[in-house]
Amino acid sequence: MDHFLYRDGVLHAEDVPVAEIAAAVGTPFYVYSTATLLRHFTLFDDALDGMDHLVCYAMKAASNQAILKTLAQAGAGMDVVSGGEYARARAAGVSGDKIVFSGVGKTADEIRMALTGGIRQFNVESEPEMEVLNRVAGEVGVIAPITIRVNPDVDAKTHAKIATGKSENKFGIPIARAREVYAMAGAMDHLDVIGIDVHIGSQLTDLTPFELAYQKVAELTVQLREDGHDIRRLDLGGGLGIPYARSNEAPPLPTDYGALIKRTVGHLGCEIEIEPGRLIAGNAGLMVSEVIYVKSGEGRDFLILDGAMNDLIRPAMYEAHHDIVPVIEPAPGTEQTPYDIVGPVCESGDTFAKQRMMPPLAAGDLVAFRSAGAYGAVMSSEYNTRPLIPEVLVNADQYAVIRARPTFDEMINRDTIPGWF
Ligand SMILES: *Cc1c(COP(=O)(O)O)cnc(C)c1O
Repeated sequence: MDHFLYRDGVLHAEDVPVAEIAAAVGTPFYVYSTATLLRHFTLFDDALDGMDHLVCYAMKAASNQAILKTLAQAGAGMDVVSGGEYARARAAGVSGDKIVFSGVGKTADEIRMALTGGIRQFNVESEPEMEVLNRVAGEVGVIAPITIRVNPDVDAKTHAKIATGKSENKFGIPIARAREVYAMAGAMDHLDVIGIDVHIGSQLTDLTPFELAYQKVAELTVQLREDGHDIRRLDLGGGLGIPYARSNEAPPLPTDYGALIKRTVGHLGCEIEIEPGRLIAGNAGLMVSEVIYVKSGEGRDFLILDGAMNDLIRPAMYEAHHDIVPVIEPAPGTEQTPYDIVGPVCESGDTFAKQRMMPPLAAGDLVAFRSAGAYGAVMSSEYNTRPLIPEVLVNADQYAVIRARPTFDEMINRDTIPGWF
């Protein structure tokens, strides 16, 4: 569910007409709905009701300060995967004890930064990382709380680029070796082994892989406790998928996911963490773009937009589908026609959709990419020296630019000229 609906024939973001924002900030741009962000966070929070828990938003999905503040004020913790994200979370007012540090390649500097600034836990992904963490914690003079990310070897049945829970993936340690690695961690002076972490992939549209993974985590919890570890926190990762094509997808609901968590690990008495990213931000954002040209090719028509793969890379990178809708609602009964919908970047990969049925469109018309709130703006680049597009946040009848479009001078002046010129 989201808060982007047609009203009086015009697409709105909550109570604000999308065309009004377009006129004010120019296209292309991202627009997010506060109500959708909060609704999705609350769905997860309520789904874990009755269990000691913290929903840690995986902020790599969308990490604008205003989005982080919105979720943090509602009580969210944050899952970060870099020093930059840690700094962003702190800048948005999130306290260290609500920040979980994930990722396979944490550097000693990033670790030091989090240990000094305060951290809820590190999700450790390898033995060498554990050794570095132990050493840096000793230098800083603190005990680092850790979970170890285990790789349960389950098939998440999602796109290969976002599956992380099979034994061939780079993530976590094989669950078969977990007891051995926990024993190593338990013997280290500056680590406090508090729990287990698992994250099997992203955009999962079936609950079965979660069920298999969490059953394995439950078994491991019992074994590790027998081995003498005080396992008291389970971080169950993120990954719940969203419906990208409204017409034919119905991914699982957070309530069903919550029930599954209670069923599989609820009896263990552990504090539960989850790390949803996409399901919180995905359907909370649109990318709005203008048609520059309608070009007739051989046997096909192209809609050439001012938005491109550098602004929204998911179709090029994951063959992802985004529903694309006109900002002005077509009259009932309008006949649709197939378009190849493309951006201006000099790559054939800069194609958002092929032979997509759309109402007839003309230069100057606005279209909106649905479900663009997660892994949209954060993955954008300035390829072709195209400015990073603005982000706008709507809250009921108000809106604000939360990241402005840089000017060409600002972009160019980030380069520096060597002294030998
Ligand atoms: C990416 C990631 C998430 C979030 O995944 P979503 O599919 O966006 O929910 C959570 N935890 C970790 C460790 C991740 O890498």
